[in-house]
Amino acid sequence: MSKPVRLTKKVEVVPGSPNTLIYDDRIVIDLGGRNASLQVSGEVQLATHGHSDHIAGLLSNAKRKYLPPEDYWTLNMIGRRAMTYGFSSRDSPFFTFDLVRQNIDPDFSDIEVEKIKLPGHTPGHTAYLVDSVLYAGDSFFGQRVLEGFGVPFYTDFWAAMDSLEKLREVVGGVEKVVVSHGPVHLDSKKARELVEFNIRFDNELVNKVKDLIKDREATAEEVAYLLSNNKEPANIYLNSIPIKSILVQVAKEVRTTERGVVYKL
Ligand SMILES: [Zn+2]
Repeated sequence: MSKPVRLTKKVEVVPGSPNTLIYDDRIVIDLGGRNASLQVSGEVQLATHGHSDHIAGLLSNAKRKYLPPEDYWTLNMIGRRAMTYGFSSRDSPFFTFDLVRQNIDPDFSDIEVEKIKLPGHTPGHTAYLVDSVLYAGDSFFGQRVLEGFGVPFYTDFWAAMDSLEKLREVVGGVEKVVVSHGPVHLDSKKARELVEFNIRFDNELVNKVKDLIKDREATAEEVAYLLSNNKEPANIYLNSIPIKSILVQVAKEVRTTERGVVYKL
């Protein structure tokens, strides 16, 4: 495992994807990915949202667990797939997820943890503020992550843009910021720069989408294909979701053809 990085007297982060935050050896945020096998016995396990790489902590026997209630779709595999790929298909080899069915306390509150709703990536996506450290989850991404995928995974792209606006304010008032996929920690100024980078990247993405439907009709999958670096089916399923969210807002003409729903500016 990667060595934990200490951010404050009480906050440490174990690098990973997601990065995992541990507060006071008591509260653990987003235990998952390769950090899922970490031996951490926090009495509280928090997940920023329901995606499968963030919820392994909810399987541990922590005393209290919290998943934002809007993300309870992740409690079964069909819901998890539907919110990730837009659909499920029982025996498909394309999805490899574990089932999560654990007690989750829907009324978690703790005097030392502030919840900040930042929807868009998922319906319930929530950031946590502990000890002046903001764990921002998947509300924004590291530069390399964004450029690697080509499209940020936002179920509602426009809600995510609103959350980025909110983040502009929030990151200014904290000491350190941790994102799930990206740098382990950022100071307030660097975090603000990364938020601005995300906003610029997303605005440029809207322009790229518009350009692709300027002189011709295209389906969401065609647009996703052209804007994705990784053109595997799973990645096109994922990237088509934010692309659809963008297309339905910017297209002037939307009609159905043999190819599917096509969009034109
Ligand atoms: Zn996620």
